[in-house]
Amino acid sequence: MSTTATRTYPLFINGEWRDCRSPKFVENRNPARTSEILGFVPLASAPEVEEAIAAAAASLPAWRRKPAPQRGAIIAGAAQIMAARKEELARALTREEGKILRESRGEVQKSINILEFMAGEARRLGGETLPSELESTFSYTMRQPLGVVAVITPWNFPVAIPCWKIAPALVAGNTVVFKPATLTPVTASIVVEIFQEAGLPAGCLNMVLGSGGEVGSRLVQHPIIRAVSFTGSNEVGAGLYAQGAQRMIKVQCEMGGKNPLVVLEDADLDLAVTATIQGAFGSTGQRCTATSRVVVMEPAADRFVEMVVDRARSMKVGDGLDESVDMGPSVDEAQMNTVLRYLEVGRQEAARLMCGGERLRGGAFDGGYFVAPTVFDCVQRNSRLAQEEIFGPVLSVQRVRSFEEAMETANDVRFGLAASIFSNDASRIFRFIDEIECGIAHVNSGTIGGEAQLPFGGIKATGIGPREQGKTALDFYTEIKTVYIDYTGQKRQSNLY
Ligand code: NAP
Repeated sequence: MSTTATRTYPLFINGEWRDCRSPKFVENRNPARTSEILGFVPLASAPEVEEAIAAAAASLPAWRRKPAPQRGAIIAGAAQIMAARKEELARALTREEGKILRESRGEVQKSINILEFMAGEARRLGGETLPSELESTFSYTMRQPLGVVAVITPWNFPVAIPCWKIAPALVAGNTVVFKPATLTPVTASIVVEIFQEAGLPAGCLNMVLGSGGEVGSRLVQHPIIRAVSFTGSNEVGAGLYAQGAQRMIKVQCEMGGKNPLVVLEDADLDLAVTATIQGAFGSTGQRCTATSRVVVMEPAADRFVEMVVDRARSMKVGDGLDESVDMGPSVDEAQMNTVLRYLEVGRQEAARLMCGGERLRGGAFDGGYFVAPTVFDCVQRNSRLAQEEIFGPVLSVQRVRSFEEAMETANDVRFGLAASIFSNDASRIFRFIDEIECGIAHVNSGTIGGEAQLPFGGIKATGIGPREQGKTALDFYTEIKTVYIDYTGQKRQSNLY
């Protein structure tokens, strides 16, 4: 039996919540209890995308004129409101995305940290003063906004990722059209409401729900849009990047990962196992920084695998709203089916299935998209399990015989987001830091996590464009203008270059 909700989510255009005119919609279901329909997501049509872009364009002149510290004060207000609404937002996140409540609270706290950090950056939004070669000349740089920017986000961090894009875009003086993932409209709407409550002027932030192919493509192709910040899959990111290049606009893409956790023979195995469990099965493996591979030295491998499998088997899987649950469902049926297909691939590739490997059935499991925490051992380097992002609770163990082989194996994927090493050997730790091909390296801690003040992002097929978060977030959302002021008050010959 379905619990039918009547709510169709509105769009947010020019400071108003508006019903979508399109008759098309999709259901928003709780992935832990699929009989529970949370609401209906309208699929916005072309005129509504136009209206959102027009509203952002109309609000741009006044917003970019507003002194940056005043823009920052609004972001600081949003941080306070989000702190007050933390529990409500965390519960909404668990209900529509499925991650456990502890993780949802963590994501909301991370978002508050991002808003606080970015509010402060508004007071530091400067350039450099540098000496000129010419006498009586003052030369400096300043940062200027790009204009109207589009923000396109995935469902797996539906609070934090919108915050880490929207906040720096606004602080820099841009106005925004936000297209959240269709699977997570409630959390996206609460994030927008928070900016509205904080006093953001009408039109500075607009939200259009709707199909990625329709709304997302319109955004990147629209002549008013000056930049697109995208997080999501490689397939979609590559298409957006190519379309942006045609128009010579800035496009930033943060995409998939296949993150290794390297365990050397001298590692503290308790620490390494705890980090592996959190990284592989936290958020049901649906993190771009998930630990999807462990590269372990043979002497430690048997014991390590035994410990990981014991812990994986003891995990409680279920509805994330139950505080005793360790791992929630896949976000939807399509994602669960992708994971189940990879379980089959693993079997065909003759990797050794150590635990899990199936959809969980019976009782409450039948009402949700639950897959057992799965460990495959002896996964070969060129296999699909080792190479492709699965985005589910599936860990591949790759055994190696030397540090050199560990590094080659860790680097032998097209992605380059996060990586960890567990060891106490200073020389090999520093070699790992030098040689590992990734944007975020960890030593004796897991592959997941990141702090608001530190840059976040990947290399190789994972990411293109300046890093998000930290001070570097503003590099994407600003252009540098170089200024020369001649105060000699007389004619003089300029440099001949
Ligand atoms: P996705 O399918 O690529 O969707 C991401 C966003 O793009 C959604 O809002 C989607 O809208 C929209 N979209 C889809 N097709 C589009 C198109 N043709 N043009 C423009 N926009 C389009 O990715 P996902 O499944 O939501 O997210 C999972 C992926 O995100 C994984 O690969 C994960 O690794 C990656 N990720 C990366 C990072 C990072 O920082 N590196 C962080 C988190 C997640 P709809 O929802 O309407 O389809």
